[in-house]
Amino acid sequence: MILGILKEPSPETRVSLHPEAVKALNAAGNKILIEKGAGEASFLSDEHFSEAGAELRSRAEVLKDAEMIFQINPLSSADHPQLGKGKILFGVYQPLVEKELMHTLAKTGVTLFSMDSIPRITRAQSMDVLSSMSTVSGYKAVLLAAAQLPRFFPMLMTAAGTIAPAKVLVIGAGVAGLQAIATAKRLGAVVEAFDTRPSVKEQVESLGGKFVEVPGAVEDKAAGGYAVEQSEEYKQKQSEMLEKSIVKSDVVITTALIPGKKAPVLITKPMLQKMKAGAVVVDLAAANGGNCEGAVNKETVIVEGVTIIGNSSLPATMPEDASKMYSKNVQNLLKLLLKEDQINLNFDDDIVKGTCITHDGNIVYEPLLK
Ligand code: NAD
Repeated sequence: MILGILKEPSPETRVSLHPEAVKALNAAGNKILIEKGAGEASFLSDEHFSEAGAELRSRAEVLKDAEMIFQINPLSSADHPQLGKGKILFGVYQPLVEKELMHTLAKTGVTLFSMDSIPRITRAQSMDVLSSMSTVSGYKAVLLAAAQLPRFFPMLMTAAGTIAPAKVLVIGAGVAGLQAIATAKRLGAVVEAFDTRPSVKEQVESLGGKFVEVPGAVEDKAAGGYAVEQSEEYKQKQSEMLEKSIVKSDVVITTALIPGKKAPVLITKPMLQKMKAGAVVVDLAAANGGNCEGAVNKETVIVEGVTIIGNSSLPATMPEDASKMYSKNVQNLLKLLLKEDQINLNFDDDIVKGTCITHDGNIVYEPLLK
């Protein structure tokens, strides 16, 4: 197969395939084309890629000649005329949000694999870009908060006095939240965490965090491990109990998301008013509307004396490792799709069925066919 790696649109800094993956795919008999400068923003030069066996080309040449095309961010409409039957495209497309784009891409005839649709099943863990990128976000969120906080994270006993440890609250203990708990603990903070899924209590405690319990949450096993909308009565109780933890915290990291819905607002302006001056909130749900009132995606704002860092694109701030992890996820999916250097699309396989959005001129992704 001929594989083509495109340079991401600015301000993206990651690259979809790392030279390590290029080397392995090349050794398996594939030809790899890469747009010049595609790795620059992640500190990977054209030489790194050519030494790994890739051939440098212009964007137009990659789009024209590659059978499989890789770009993390959706291609712009200017690239669409180059797509067609026989081309396979890989990226992060949010098919349930970008429905119109899915129909446009289906019409081109391209086969689209949206990496964010990889099913959350054990067999697909090594391909799961949502998890790997959430790992980066959870880690970086804590570092941003620590850099912004006018206080230490760890407890210090020094000749200049004793410093109490920072109190960190993590709301939403999914992949990003658990990584945030682990990172804040490593820095010496006292950590509490809350999630509407009581089953995560054990995971929070295994990382040294204290789980804030709000009895009465509904957890739907059929939701595949995801959160579901709670009753108004529960939300009220949750808000009252969470407020106690929020107002005593130096840092709050919020990651709460419900698939296909706007992020729940969990920190209100009155709560911000009661927080300590200088406290920091990092809202990782900012792109989905935010968990904190006043959060603005991609901006740092100060509301009621609290610094709110709204950022859902933290993987791009650590492009080297984020690219390596994304690339490994793609490479693992390709192990399933490629037999030697030939494509093998088995739509009876849950991973292929769950990740392929358009094929042969049609939408084939079941959630979009309902
Ligand atoms: P996510 O990004 O969808 O949401 C983040 C967290 O926010 C979740 O833990 C969710 O329960 C929580 N949340 C939602 N509403 C909330 C509210 N009102 N208050 C507090 N918390 C709230 O989650 P994710 O990190 O993508 O993980 C989702 C699930 O998928 C988890 O069960 C995780 O263990 C599972 N998972 C499975 C695999 C796999 O098996 N391959 C891989 C990754 C994740």
